[in-house]
Amino acid sequence: MERLAAGTVVCAEGYLFELERRGYLQAGSFVPEVVLEHPEQVTALHEQFVHAGSDVVEAFTYYAHREKLRLIGKEDLLEPMNRQALALARDVAVEHGALLAGNVCNTNIYDPADPVTHAQVRAMFDEQVSWAAEAGVDFVIAETLRYLGEAEIALDVIRRAGLPAVVTLVVDRSADMRDGPPLVDAARRLAGAGADVVGLNCSRGPATMLPLLEPLVAAVDVPVAALPVPYRTTPEQPTFQSLTDDRLPDGAAFPTALDPFTSNRYEIGEFASAAADVGVSYLGLCCGAAPHHLRAMAEALGRTPPASRYSADMSKHVYLGDDPALASHNRAYRAHL
Ligand SMILES: [Zn+2]
Repeated sequence: MERLAAGTVVCAEGYLFELERRGYLQAGSFVPEVVLEHPEQVTALHEQFVHAGSDVVEAFTYYAHREKLRLIGKEDLLEPMNRQALALARDVAVEHGALLAGNVCNTNIYDPADPVTHAQVRAMFDEQVSWAAEAGVDFVIAETLRYLGEAEIALDVIRRAGLPAVVTLVVDRSADMRDGPPLVDAARRLAGAGADVVGLNCSRGPATMLPLLEPLVAAVDVPVAALPVPYRTTPEQPTFQSLTDDRLPDGAAFPTALDPFTSNRYEIGEFASAAADVGVSYLGLCCGAAPHHLRAMAEALGRTPPASRYSADMSKHVYLGDDPALASHNRAYRAHL
């Protein structure tokens, strides 16, 4: 909260997609077994995101919850996976002076009409938040929540643990929550119930999340978060799940053929500036994010993270540069490339 009062906070997310892309996590069930099987890869990605400008090291416990572990028949790994993910994140946060965040997410069992599931969801959040609290997290992120009711349970659990809460919701093609309330009403309810930060993550790309942000900022008196997916969504296909590519047999690019829709770093920088201009102060990226995106975001907010040491300088490029030491016959060849 001190850092938000002084300016912006940048938070890298998207571990699931990036580690899947790198060959360490299976698309489909999307369980972060990589935390136990290849912890060095998780640490490396934490390091890369901090290097690129993330102020937060978020423990990779997304989908490391009871429903997912049950789905793959490995419930016995639930606690070791959570504790290991928290320890990996803590080591990197301590080394770099970054904030350490715990994480809970969509449980996939919440049913607004079935109170039995509400108790099960609470138990799932309780166990994960208790491990996060024991690991000494600075705050807990409750994310990718499509139901206001599920978000309210997560917030209550985090507050009962005495920890600050960042609650980020998902809206899909409709800008309403899945259990009915319009986004701004949901955000207002969560802020009123004690969320320290409220906002949006996942599903929508920069172009289709941005229009939702100004009303959100106007609706609440707490800092607002925005963590889109770095994909070129459109008004007709506003979410990365809805993007279609007619080169694919069934047209569906989500989740493993989204590459041609990836936003470039400049689009991410423009999003960060535009979101900051309407008052969003907690910025990040979700599924699909890579370090170059994070760096562009941080730089658009006036930062110079360590990775800025390597930000592009085309003046010395063999064909595109203008440095007098470059061979002129190569510059003249530019149009033939
Ligand atoms: Zn995501």
